[in-house]
Amino acid sequence: MMELKNGSKIAIVGGGPAGAFSAFFLLDLAKQVDLDIQVDIFEPRDFTLTGPRGCNMCGGVISESLVQKFASDGIHLPDNVLIDTIDAYTLHTDSSSVRIKAPKNEKRIACIFRGAGPKGAENQLPIPWSSFDDHLLSLAIEKGAEHFKTRVTGIAWDRGRPRLSWGENNHTTYDLVVGCVGLNSPALKLFIDLDFGYKPPKSTKAYVSELYFGEYEVVRLLEHSMHVFLLNIPGVKFIAITPKGDYATMIILGDNIDQNLVKQVFQAPEVQKCLPVGWEVPVQTCHCQPHINIGAPSNPFGDRVVLVGDCSSSRLYKDGIGAAYRLAKAMAYAAISHGVEKESFRRFYQPACSKLDWDNRLGHIIFFGDSLMRPATFIQEAILAVIKEEQNREDTTPRLSAALWDTFTGSSSYKKIIISSMYPMVVFKLIWHSVKRLFGV
Ligand SMILES: Cc1cc2nc3c(=O)[nH]c(=O)nc-3n(C[C@H](O)[C@H](O)[C@H](O)COP(=O)(O)OP(=O)(O)OC[C@H]3O[C@@H](n4cnc5c(N)ncnc54)[C@H](O)[C@@H]3O)c2cc1C
Repeated sequence: MMELKNGSKIAIVGGGPAGAFSAFFLLDLAKQVDLDIQVDIFEPRDFTLTGPRGCNMCGGVISESLVQKFASDGIHLPDNVLIDTIDAYTLHTDSSSVRIKAPKNEKRIACIFRGAGPKGAENQLPIPWSSFDDHLLSLAIEKGAEHFKTRVTGIAWDRGRPRLSWGENNHTTYDLVVGCVGLNSPALKLFIDLDFGYKPPKSTKAYVSELYFGEYEVVRLLEHSMHVFLLNIPGVKFIAITPKGDYATMIILGDNIDQNLVKQVFQAPEVQKCLPVGWEVPVQTCHCQPHINIGAPSNPFGDRVVLVGDCSSSRLYKDGIGAAYRLAKAMAYAAISHGVEKESFRRFYQPACSKLDWDNRLGHIIFFGDSLMRPATFIQEAILAVIKEEQNREDTTPRLSAALWDTFTGSSSYKKIIISSMYPMVVFKLIWHSVKRLFGV
């Protein structure tokens, strides 16, 4: 048995959400069982900086239910981390749009910045918000983790234990190494080269940009709503514009988004309605093209090594932060309660990964079905008609509205989304409205 003992040393490579949650739960559980362990987090990025230097590149949307789950574990997000809250989203198709109110049990979506804000935000000092990643890292440090502000450059086996190297000739051997390096780091190769069978998940390039309109224009154009676009642009799965104070965050997800697709998105008439008139994307706009997880990893654990977060399993196109939180919790339970050998991770960590991987297969089916239906305008119109009906009537359960809300906010699994949109009355209404539009009834 490879059990952790008093004085055992754990290294966490990467201090983004997965790394901070991992440290938090490892130290929390260790305290509960009176175990005195050392947790070192290696993270070179300074999350208190604006622009790419401080940012882990993401849309920054988290659901209210996730914020509540965090709180139940003692992870409280202060008001200056939660920049904007949204209580509706607007669904746009090529032909029309509809505003969807938050379902009753899911009051809002929270918006965060991963770093201290977009490039250029430092010019509006004092910056009114705080970094989400910096807050999580501070909570892990408060729990007792030590932060090494440096990049790990090597991992090798030292008589069965992983040995980390960094800086000029620094190295330490650990009892467990937790890899939380995301998908945008060459450090993935360090874990592949450890030869325990790890293969990173499949990923594709997405697009994020922070559009500066000023707060007045953001509120006027977006009306405290997240705008989701299901447009017939081949290769684009979905587009979202989210209000965040003075900025609107644009996310484009699809298959290897390139500059040509980005240009087509900005020129789409429905998107233009959410931009100030005559507005063109300034050259210096803070933007990036990070990798997003769209598959399952192979063997994300071995003896004394485990991967958590985006470099392991995640949620397809949504709720990556929630997935990192769940996996970190499962990993910490396995390591503290059952030991750090492969078998312990297989029994107590793998189920959490498999749950996400299976649900993502259903997610792929939903997005595949959506891509087939996208060119059929009559189906898009039927979907909008059913949603409008649900939104205008207080006496019906807004099942389709709720299913779409969950698809884009990550409040629910893809399995639950399929079940609620397969409800006989929803299917009947969709067929009825499609037939009406197809035959011009
Ligand atoms: C376009 C896009 C939009 C998204 N929108 C959302 C959203 O709205 N909501 C949501 O919940 N999720 C969203 N996600 C997913 C979310 O960003 C990820 O799931 C989340 O960041 C995963 O956290 P992580 O800690 O695993 O990885 P990361 O956040 O990538 O963190 C990895 C960390 O490892 C560090 N690191 C890398 N190499 C080394 C090394 N050698 N040594 C030390 N440290 C190292 C990096 O500096 C970094 O801080 C989005 C993703 C993309 C691509």
